[in-house]
Amino acid sequence: MGEARIGIVGGGPAGLAAAIEAAELGLRVDLFERNRVGDHVRCGEGFVDTMHRLEQPGAGVRFRVEEVLVQVEQEYRIRCKGIRIWMIDRAEWQRSLAEQARSAGACLYENTRIDSRLWQDLQRDYNWVIDASGAPSRTSLQHGFRDYYRKYSAYTAQYVMEGDFSRLGERLKFVLFPHYEGYYWIFPKGLDAQGRSIANVGIGLFRRDCANSWGNRLWMDLDRLNNREGIEGRVLRRHGGIVPIRLLEQLEYGNVLLVGDAAGCASPLHGGGIDTSFSVGRLAARWIAGREGRLPDGQFNAGKSFSAAVGDLLWPKLRVEEKICDLWSKLDRPALDAVASLATKDCRQVRPWGALPCCWLLLRHTAAGYHFWRGLTRGRW
Ligand SMILES: Cc1cc2nc3c(=O)[nH]c(=O)nc-3n(C[C@H](O)[C@H](O)[C@H](O)COP(=O)(O)OP(=O)(O)OC[C@H]3O[C@@H](n4cnc5c(N)ncnc54)[C@H](O)[C@@H]3O)c2cc1C
Repeated sequence: MGEARIGIVGGGPAGLAAAIEAAELGLRVDLFERNRVGDHVRCGEGFVDTMHRLEQPGAGVRFRVEEVLVQVEQEYRIRCKGIRIWMIDRAEWQRSLAEQARSAGACLYENTRIDSRLWQDLQRDYNWVIDASGAPSRTSLQHGFRDYYRKYSAYTAQYVMEGDFSRLGERLKFVLFPHYEGYYWIFPKGLDAQGRSIANVGIGLFRRDCANSWGNRLWMDLDRLNNREGIEGRVLRRHGGIVPIRLLEQLEYGNVLLVGDAAGCASPLHGGGIDTSFSVGRLAARWIAGREGRLPDGQFNAGKSFSAAVGDLLWPKLRVEEKICDLWSKLDRPALDAVASLATKDCRQVRPWGALPCCWLLLRHTAAGYHFWRGLTRGRW
């Protein structure tokens, strides 16, 4: 007992959560990260704890979000009462998680890239390998399914900007596009270490037909929306990429388990994946500990595959989100505007020609809407 060795590839939320949990459960953990933990993070840094399973991040919290602004044609305010959402600095948060993992006994190897040769060594020398390398994952490169991610991903482009975002205060802003095309976001972060006022400003497209020429179109759309929103300032960093939003059916390949973006577990509704990556990383460690007889009752998920255990955790939420996506895909701009106004109870803005078709759709999707709202505010899916 206690000799099972776990190798983890990737020091993002999924890998770090797995490392902490596994080390705390007495397993021997080595984590490999190709950069320094927290460097080169590509993220809007809005941390939504949709399933109400996580603690408030222990470090890096800039502010708890009390209100978000949602815009279609008009702008609406949504109070976040009951919705657990924080604006965080991921680099700071992840570095503190790395410290936590080290204190629990895990060994972290930064600036260590696992290439295909090392990958084979890892599979041979460790009892279990957790692939938390994002998308495309190391496993997908080996097993030839990297195209899966391209097919089922949100495509994003984001600037980290210095500017005057005081109009938003501590509120996040979303501009929704009709027919489930995606959204534009402005997430102010407050002051950075140099005293500059910073925001993550980005765009994400969900529908593949909209994202076909995503490279150029996304950046042009982002610039256009920035102009429309009057966002001015200096671009400090620009990045983007894919966020896999369809859970892979198979999450086990021999002794390898896929977690986080590698498993495709970000939300199909908003593309947020910090919380689910963290939860699934943790689950992987517990699942292995169960297999190795390291859990007190020795019964954790006895006989259940890892894919099934992840499904149990995520599918109740994913099913509801998929129904909301389905509703969203049917809404044109006026209808989406009407839904936003009804959802925010700001009915002064509703126009009859927008409201009528959407009332019918809402009636058809009432159950999904109810579960979504209840899930979001209570974490019960
Ligand atoms: C522009 C953008 C904005 C986003 N905004 C949000 C948001 O506001 N809120 C939210 O919840 N989610 C957001 N997401 C999604 C979120 O970032 C991901 O879902 C989340 O980071 C997934 O965590 P992960 O640990 O699985 O992967 P990652 O965070 O990608 O971590 C993977 C790690 O593996 C390392 N790695 C990769 N290959 C190797 C290798 N061969 N050897 C060693 N190390 C390796 C990488 O360096 C990286 O550190 C956003 C994504 C993008 C692209």
